[in-house]
Amino acid sequence: MTNYDVVIIGAGMSGLAAGIRAKMLGHEKVAIVERHTIAGGLNSYYQRGRRQFDVGLHALTNFARPGEKNRPLLKICKQLRIPYDSLQLKEQRFSTIQFPFGAINFSNNKQDLISSLASLFPDEVAGLQRLTEFLAQFQETDLTRPFVSTRAELTHFFQNQNLVEMLLWPLLIYGSACEDDMDFGQFAIMFKAIYQEGFSRPMGGVRTIIDLLLERYKNLGGEIFFKKEVKSLHSTGQSSIQALEFKDGEIWQTGTILSSVGLHETWHLAQMENALAPTGRMSFTESIFVFDSAPGQHGPTIAFYSGHPSAQYHRPSTLFDRESAVICFPNNYANCEYRETVVRVTHPANYELWKNLTRVEYLQEKEKVKEAGLALVARNYGLDTTKLVFHDVFTPLTVERYTGHRAGAVYGSPHKIKNGVTPFSNLFLIGTDQGFLGVVGALLSGISMANLHLFQPTSFSTQVQNEI
Ligand SMILES: Cc1cc2nc3c(=O)[nH]c(=O)nc-3n(C[C@H](O)[C@H](O)[C@H](O)COP(=O)(O)OP(=O)(O)OC[C@H]3O[C@@H](n4cnc5c(N)ncnc54)[C@H](O)[C@@H]3O)c2cc1C
Repeated sequence: MTNYDVVIIGAGMSGLAAGIRAKMLGHEKVAIVERHTIAGGLNSYYQRGRRQFDVGLHALTNFARPGEKNRPLLKICKQLRIPYDSLQLKEQRFSTIQFPFGAINFSNNKQDLISSLASLFPDEVAGLQRLTEFLAQFQETDLTRPFVSTRAELTHFFQNQNLVEMLLWPLLIYGSACEDDMDFGQFAIMFKAIYQEGFSRPMGGVRTIIDLLLERYKNLGGEIFFKKEVKSLHSTGQSSIQALEFKDGEIWQTGTILSSVGLHETWHLAQMENALAPTGRMSFTESIFVFDSAPGQHGPTIAFYSGHPSAQYHRPSTLFDRESAVICFPNNYANCEYRETVVRVTHPANYELWKNLTRVEYLQEKEKVKEAGLALVARNYGLDTTKLVFHDVFTPLTVERYTGHRAGAVYGSPHKIKNGVTPFSNLFLIGTDQGFLGVVGALLSGISMANLHLFQPTSFSTQVQNEI
């Protein structure tokens, strides 16, 4: 029977980062097992003709300039021993939050948010200042902190509800597993990641990050198996997991298991049906458009659009909410010259309604998602839709099929296990349902959970741990 010291389920960002740390902490036999044919999980890539597309990546959060202190992205690179330069990051031009009553712009220069906010909400600048000071002292990575409502907290800083809606909208749609609100700890992480540090994108898209992680992991002697889907986790006496059973019939024994597949999904693998956690309700459609014209170079990199007067972050009562969207221009970054314009349009969507469609209806409704996205970009950014040369549409069912996240819940369950601990002594959660979200969050999750649960006090691993 195959025997590993550590098995990591899932080759998404958290699984790859955890694999690297497991090897660096001195574990001899480490395996990552992945049901898909390539790595990346929710943030992978695919090829159509001569074009390569990212599945998920709009932007990398937490932009940092070399030498800046306490920046998560620099710390991640240091912990994984990946040179920061090799990410080849291009900075956003600027992003915008667009509501019916006005727009606020922000960029990787913190001052831009303050100036833009001041012109629309002059009476709220002092509140923003107080919030910024409060967040500077806030320990957002405290793993013991209970859920606190961000909407309730923000009433201590702002009078104008329109501003609260605007500030919340990008943070909700880029990282809340809860409907219409988010945990204040998560808000603090994302406020810093998006409004204070900002967006960038690797020159070669998400594949740059995946290839760097894979190369590092393999060079350390880690093994990775694709098309290797875990079917169940076997325990005796409920205290620890003894073996993993795969869909291909193989059974492996293992010391420790780190699971990145989600809380609900992991419980299901361990046959803990009675403990089933709530599945997340937030899923999305995403359209990708390619236009045969160069990017405008003056418009935003990302637009957080709401045609509603307040942030409508919940499962819509229709298949998708055409008046709530993220409109991303992934090749409109600084110092990038491209011949074609790429646009990605993301809408909140209702998984159950998509699930209940017949095949014919499904294809018809995907066409409506495409038309709604095109209308939005034509109306807001004047793109000539006759120049459309390629399009593709994902639905919540696509997310579920390719990543195994039930109900296509991109941000997982609203119930997070921040210390990764499960009722089984050798099974730990990493990634989405541990609670750190997005690419940077998932990398941090893999690193921090591996450090917490795989540390073995040999002289080498103590040295690695002390360097962090
Ligand atoms: C459309 C979209 C756009 C996004 N845009 C951004 C963005 O612009 N910026 C950003 O920072 N984040 C973005 N995200 C979020 C980000 O992609 C995720 O938060 C992050 O990648 C999650 O990583 P993870 O390792 O926790 O989980 P996952 O990526 O879900 O990894 C889990 C892996 O486990 C595998 N798996 C599942 N079940 C099994 C099984 N039984 N056996 C073996 N393997 C299994 C899956 O195939 C998957 O590869 C986006 C997500 C989506 C869907």
